[in-house]
Amino acid sequence: MSMDFDVIVVGSGVTGGWAAKELTEKGLKVLVLDRGRPLTHGSGYTTEHTPPWKIPFGGKPLRELYARDYAVQSKSYAFDETTRHFWVKDSDYPYTQAQDAPFHWLRADVVGGKSLLWARQVYRWSDLDFEANRRDGHGVDWPIRYRDLEPWYAHVERFIGVSGQAEQLVQLPDSVFQPAMQMSVVEKAMKQRIEAQFPARRMTIGRVANLTEPLGDRAACHYCGVCQRGCSPGAYFSSLSSTLPAASRTGNLTLRANSLVEESTTTRHAGVSRACASSTRKPARVRASGRGSSFSAVPPSAACRCC
Ligand SMILES: Cc1cc2nc3c(=O)[nH]c(=O)nc-3n(C[C@H](O)[C@H](O)[C@H](O)COP(=O)(O)OP(=O)(O)OC[C@H]3O[C@@H](n4cnc5c(N)ncnc54)[C@H](O)[C@@H]3O)c2cc1C
Ligand code: SF4
Repeated sequence: MSMDFDVIVVGSGVTGGWAAKELTEKGLKVLVLDRGRPLTHGSGYTTEHTPPWKIPFGGKPLRELYARDYAVQSKSYAFDETTRHFWVKDSDYPYTQAQDAPFHWLRADVVGGKSLLWARQVYRWSDLDFEANRRDGHGVDWPIRYRDLEPWYAHVERFIGVSGQAEQLVQLPDSVFQPAMQMSVVEKAMKQRIEAQFPARRMTIGRVANLTEPLGDRAACHYCGVCQRGCSPGAYFSSLSSTLPAASRTGNLTLRANSLVEESTTTRHAGVSRACASSTRKPARVRASGRGSSFSAVPPSAACRCC
């Protein structure tokens, strides 16, 4: 097989999906490789509206299985029997941790990555954040300030769709908003009392990449409340609902699932990735080397070492 690509993107999560969209829309031929299983937006969300009585053991944790195979991933609130198929098996992907700095590395194993699983909270940083290092004397000062990012925040927000309430707060700049979700009665009462007691403080509704109005071919949220299972109307932002379809519409996208990239080498003129198609356990070498130059996916005879 021989095809031309300008760019290889590793991973189809939040970042990879955006890279694919922006680059394909600029006319570049893009190959996206993801180690995870393929997933079709809409029909692929098999547990989307599964009622609790249809989930084995009512969705209670399978303790022995989780301890053996999902010791880290099962720590996430978003991990359960309706989403387990989206997460990596820790027993297949072990990692080392420093004893004095352990961390939970939450990882998806599906096309779309954690854009399927995330909680969709999106807040702009203000100059209070960008200048915090310098003011406190820690780390390195950011080389950019809010004004540099402002147009890019807006560019992203217009596309992903963010609902929230404009508040004109210096410490929390407003996004490009769709109408805010309603607060509950209790939240409204709490807001009223907090703001009466502390006039300088503001309680505001969460700013989320969940649509309250339709956007393109994505429908508004119907508040079923189990987003991490996937959303066939596309009411929350994910690579599958948003960036990958946009990239695909350009005709410049090739997306390959079950392709774990083992190695990536870049030279001045070319990037080479050694990918392993984990469904077949056959390795392949893929190369992007600038417009018009050749791409090859060559299954080498050597046995795959990466999975
Ligand atoms: C439960 C949960 C809630 C969260 N809530 C929020 C929130 O409210 N707001 C917020 O801003 N962030 C939130 N996050 C974080 C957010 O999801 C991540 O910051 C974001 O998804 C990171 O994007 P990414 O593209 O770097 O990685 P991912 O979205 O994880 O995508 C990485 C992709 O790369 C693939 N991949 C990895 N290694 C390889 C390889 N070697 N070869 C091929 N493919 C590979 C994976 O399969 C995956 O598809 C949350 C995360 C979780 C888990
Ligand atoms: S975005 Fe709305 S409609 Fe979609 S899964 Fe989440 S709550 Fe349900």
